[in-house]
Amino acid sequence: MLNSPSEQPSVDEAPLLHIDLDAFFASVEILDDPTLKGKPVCVGGGGERGVIASASYEARRFGVRSAMPSVVAKRICPSLVIIPGHFDRYEVYSRKFHDIVRDLTPDFESLGLDEVFCDLRSLRRLNVRPIEAGFALRRRIWDELELLCGVGLGRNKLFAKLASKKSKPYVKDGRLVDGPGVVWVSPQLEARWLEELPVRALWGVGPATAAKLEKLGLHWVRDLARVGEATLSTHVGASMAASLCAYAQGEDRREVVADREMKSVGHDQTFAKSLEGINQVLDAAKGHAAVVARALRGQGRVARTITVVVRFDDLTSVSRSQTLSFGVDDEVAIMAIAEALLQSVELHHAVRLLGIHASSFLERERNQMQLTFGFEAVSGNAREQAEIVSRERQIGHEALRDAVDEVRQRFGRAALGTASELGEHGVDIKTQRGRHAFGPEGPAS
Ligand SMILES: [Mg+2]
Repeated sequence: MLNSPSEQPSVDEAPLLHIDLDAFFASVEILDDPTLKGKPVCVGGGGERGVIASASYEARRFGVRSAMPSVVAKRICPSLVIIPGHFDRYEVYSRKFHDIVRDLTPDFESLGLDEVFCDLRSLRRLNVRPIEAGFALRRRIWDELELLCGVGLGRNKLFAKLASKKSKPYVKDGRLVDGPGVVWVSPQLEARWLEELPVRALWGVGPATAAKLEKLGLHWVRDLARVGEATLSTHVGASMAASLCAYAQGEDRREVVADREMKSVGHDQTFAKSLEGINQVLDAAKGHAAVVARALRGQGRVARTITVVVRFDDLTSVSRSQTLSFGVDDEVAIMAIAEALLQSVELHHAVRLLGIHASSFLERERNQMQLTFGFEAVSGNAREQAEIVSRERQIGHEALRDAVDEVRQRFGRAALGTASELGEHGVDIKTQRGRHAFGPEGPAS
């Protein structure tokens, strides 16, 4: 076992807690459809270019992993069930997960929907014992959400995150083995891990960087301690080199940045068949705008920055953003900005992936610059109320037209004359439910 039961670090010895839900998307799908229980289940794109976003432990027994091409996953596990995914459901579970964490401490930072860092130092005076707090969190998440998770405790983010990974169940010889659930990285364990860890275990070291490091003969974290930062930076860049050299000493200065639950809301989709021409791209973008708007409204937020991402068949990418003087949370406004941004992109190849992201959040109730664009319901039927709403819509549409003009001035227009102009009542957009972000839609079997 990693920690002996007698070890009980104080908050100062284990100030950072990392918690990560196990196989989150796949687990939510199984909760929503109990007939999937015990089957190898993945959430991801089922088509030719799809990738696995989340694999149940049953699927992992066959060697299926996230980020694996779905085609490969199907080959090694022919009975694999691949589900396109239901983001609205994941958001519901994620909010409940955050609520449970918030009951422990408001000093938490979320990464994505299923991962959170907590800084426990503000709990010092409450005599909170980190390991007990970790087990209590796990128990509550299981009792209330029926989800499993791993908890890591350490001196900094680096060790806390490595520890939560170690706390999880793992597959050995095709069999699933329970993890300890909570792991604290004691000073002894820190020293051992720095000795034993491969470089690719480090945060931010993806397959490409790992390959580069291994080519230089740097296979282990301890190897990094032997090379100077200057040497490393010629190979992996200055900022990565600085992080790696710090990690090699067990140092990580990144703090928990609370109150930024989510930095952006976005929707990306890789298409089974690449899109040709601006009309196809704009058609797809409407669906994206609707998904992003729904996510924003679900979180009670409005966003001031809209970003579009386009990846072409030759794997080059372009992204463009515009920050507005007002916040938006509806599909008409998001689409209008996205459309202007997309029209400025030269479509020199077919489009393989399209993404729309919203960021620079304002809390909805605090947003003085919230404009109404046409989807706001009129409460009651008083004529006065209706007049106010209609006036606000007018103002909203004028501000939006200004913003669209500004985008066109900044970026120009590569595609001319094909897109629908923003009409008095906005663009007719269908909302889409349950669309996913992991890859092309293909047969979901
Ligand atoms: Mg997870």
